[in-house]
Amino acid sequence: MEGYKYSDACQLAGYNHSFSLTNSEVYQKQLKDKLALLPKNSLRQPVVEKILNQLINLVNAIIDEKQGWVTREERLNNQFEIRIELARELKQSKDERNETYRKQRQRERENAQIVKELETSYGLRPTRNNIIKWRLFHEINNEDKKINAVCLYCGKTFGINDALSGEMVDVDHIIPRTLFFDDSQNNKILVHRACNASKGNLTAYDFMKLKGEEVFKEYIDRVEFLYNQKIISKVKRDRLLTPGNEIPDDFIERQLRETQYISRKSREILNQICYNVWSTSGGVTEKLRKLWGWDDILMQLQLPRYRELGLTEEIVIENSDGSLQKKEVIKGWTKRNDHRHHAIDALTIACTEQGFIQRINTLSSEKTRNELYNEVKDIKFNEKLTLLEKYLIAQRPFTTEYVKDKVSQILVSYKSGKKLATKGRRIIQVNDRKIVAQDNILVPRGPLSEESVYGKIKIIEKDKPIAYLFENPHLIVDFRIKELVEARLQQYQNDVKQALKSIKKEPIFIDDEKSKVLEKAHCYVEKYVIKYPVESIKPNEVDDIVDEKIRQIIRQRFNSVSKESDAFKEPVYFDEQKKIPIRSVRMFTGLTAVEPIRWDENNNPIAFVKPGNNHHIAIYKDENGNYQEHVCTFWHAVERKKYGFPVIIENTSEIWNRILANPDIFPTSFVEKLPADKLQLTYSLQQNEMFIMGLSPEEVQEIIQRKDYSLISRHLYRVQKISTSNYMFRHHLETEIDDSKEAKVSKKFINIQSMKSFFGYNPVKIRINCLGQMVI
Ligand SMILES: [Zn+2]
Repeated sequence: MEGYKYSDACQLAGYNHSFSLTNSEVYQKQLKDKLALLPKNSLRQPVVEKILNQLINLVNAIIDEKQGWVTREERLNNQFEIRIELARELKQSKDERNETYRKQRQRERENAQIVKELETSYGLRPTRNNIIKWRLFHEINNEDKKINAVCLYCGKTFGINDALSGEMVDVDHIIPRTLFFDDSQNNKILVHRACNASKGNLTAYDFMKLKGEEVFKEYIDRVEFLYNQKIISKVKRDRLLTPGNEIPDDFIERQLRETQYISRKSREILNQICYNVWSTSGGVTEKLRKLWGWDDILMQLQLPRYRELGLTEEIVIENSDGSLQKKEVIKGWTKRNDHRHHAIDALTIACTEQGFIQRINTLSSEKTRNELYNEVKDIKFNEKLTLLEKYLIAQRPFTTEYVKDKVSQILVSYKSGKKLATKGRRIIQVNDRKIVAQDNILVPRGPLSEESVYGKIKIIEKDKPIAYLFENPHLIVDFRIKELVEARLQQYQNDVKQALKSIKKEPIFIDDEKSKVLEKAHCYVEKYVIKYPVESIKPNEVDDIVDEKIRQIIRQRFNSVSKESDAFKEPVYFDEQKKIPIRSVRMFTGLTAVEPIRWDENNNPIAFVKPGNNHHIAIYKDENGNYQEHVCTFWHAVERKKYGFPVIIENTSEIWNRILANPDIFPTSFVEKLPADKLQLTYSLQQNEMFIMGLSPEEVQEIIQRKDYSLISRHLYRVQKISTSNYMFRHHLETEIDDSKEAKVSKKFINIQSMKSFFGYNPVKIRINCLGQMVI
């Protein structure tokens, strides 16, 4: 029996297949009021769990009826939809992410190099077009392989000057932009202008096919030759061999499929509170953001601040129609330096309609092109734009000025200070098995991330003098010597001085014949070590590498490269067969005081943290009205909790009354680190707390009352790190820790080193919730 295809059947039955999610089944599903957080350890990947729980918290805050942003009625009546797109960083594993960043940085560095070269060697403006021409030329011109740049259409070679400065050579889209959505280098080649003049809307393959069998065969041979010589990538070769009727139309869909587990899982979660959940892909977002004129917003917002400081410059840019225009830009600017670029992406994603994606996917179909044409035929456009671009521009939902105004009001929220401690167990390792040694103890959290956990190793230091041996008998390597020294110490009731004195009259012999007198011996020395990723090592740190062989290998590597930054472009191997890559390296830390956090079965500590991590800084006012600073380490904060004290102590007298009433309970080491008696707290600073800095008390009060987020944003800082008389505040929009002079003058950070300067900024603490709203 012959039936209809599902899509046809849907159409006959009145459903729109392309929106087949919207069938009645979906609507019968009950929507939840709120999303439940994922239970701890319910997913195998804790990082994924954390990301998804952040999403859940945010969505719950948005649909909170009190906020009134999205009501239950609206959701039930299908009046809104959710569009999701993973931030590019989240789509990838940590390694892939580093790889992406590395490539990005590399490309930026290369571009900077190309810009220099274009200006100095060729006297050319470094326009986008010239940069891509330079890249495409060097892609196919390989001196090592003795391959000259060649026009793939006619087979004749051309030089760099022809490519760059002349009117002779053009950048050609292998598959025309009118048919396919790929503006990357993979879809571009350099060819003679004369050779592509009649190409029009044909793919390179179809165009060459028209030129007769012989010419066509030569073209195919040229493409395959460049591919076999590893001059061009597989993607580029495939593009060069694609006939018009085989243009991949799954470009977008393929990307969607690639979004992995997080994306699937978040869709699944969000479907519990919303009928329509869509995913979009980064490629579309980027394109739309650009076409809608939202790409430059962040720089425009930051420009005045930088201009004042002389950190801007004027460049000449090329408009899409080829005309030139002067433009003021921030030196070295990239939007990734401003957290708000995620917000602009999110807005773009929210404004992406399913229809856009559909049209992009079916760009090669006549029907779509007719639709697009009808949409834009009455609007005036720059004629260099493609039909698709014109259509998408016509769909722009908000003006650039409007978006700019809204973006200026964004306040970035940070996860507040790390949780201090949780109830937990102490797990120890016994013969490869983990067992619970202690239950229900306070387990400190926060700085116990893998990076900050140290190990302790024993290394041998040769020929330590006898005085050292008597002071550190437990460190002596030779068991016999150790016994002899310990015996002598015992003879003198462990009085090191007396024992040492005795040596002169009565030396210790280390052999039975009494011929060798003990003068020195090898000792163990305990050193704290930590693992670092190999790429993070600098040449001057090589000496701190614990393992001697690895130390040599890394040193050799640094010696073999001309630039330090090239050192780890290629993997480093431990063995000559290159089977064992070195990924991380144990390094000495130079630390002497650390606190144990993990123990072996004999209760010997095996992992440590630096106690130097400060939990908070409290600023107290004493009876005379003077201010004093009190630093509370992470460790002490845990202890305060253990003894039932408030972690941040507001009124120190209460604490001291309790201590004086029961002095025996509290160890001196604990009491010593408490703030003095009769102090009143005026400020406390914890990592990631938010402060308005640098406004007068009246101004602060006014902007808080008016909720002038745009002005608050300019003066909003988070506590980045704190130590004795050194508080680092970082502007809330900054994504990078940049401690350069320029960063200082542009107030990307404020470094405070005295109480006077702290009060000079009139700091006012405010809280920003996860929706970016100020909470007092
Ligand atoms: Zn040619």
